[in-house]
Amino acid sequence: MTSDLPYLRSYPVSLQDQARDLLAQGRLGGMLQRKYPQAHAVRSDKALYDYAQELKARYLRNAGTVNKVLFDNKIHVVRHALGLHTAVSRVQGNRLAAKHEIRIASMFKQAPDEFLRMIVVHELAHLREKDHGKAFYQLCTHMEPQYHQYEFDLRLYLTHVEHAGERLWSAAAETSSG
Ligand SMILES: [Zn+2]
Repeated sequence: MTSDLPYLRSYPVSLQDQARDLLAQGRLGGMLQRKYPQAHAVRSDKALYDYAQELKARYLRNAGTVNKVLFDNKIHVVRHALGLHTAVSRVQGNRLAAKHEIRIASMFKQAPDEFLRMIVVHELAHLREKDHGKAFYQLCTHMEPQYHQYEFDLRLYLTHVEHAGERLWSAAAETSSG
């Protein structure tokens, strides 16, 4: 089996092969669910905003203000974009003020806390570091020491969804909401 795994392209071939084997055996989804049995409880944009503010207050107190944080169903998760961070600069009085918005693909409304945290940490790190350089990833792992592991597992999940067409964690989340 030589299928291309676009979400895992930046990882060593040996890891891609392992993922390909699990996928072929239909075991990838089950493995992820056993590793991350619980979905997070962030059910609304307001809750997501609070979640992000709490992380920011702990690690990036002096970085710019985040005005908006929301789940966005118009973000299609492709290749490397899991969320979006936008900074719009505009003149306020005689100074330039930046408005920061963080948008997270709505498929992560139903996901383990570890995956959501990884994405929020990534987008928050962009408040300080524009590019994905060494300093950027240092900041990410400072906020979440397991950042790289969670990103890899999240990409395994995206690979699973793409191949099996089945989302995990959604049923439990739906019945317990409201
Ligand atoms: Zn980024």
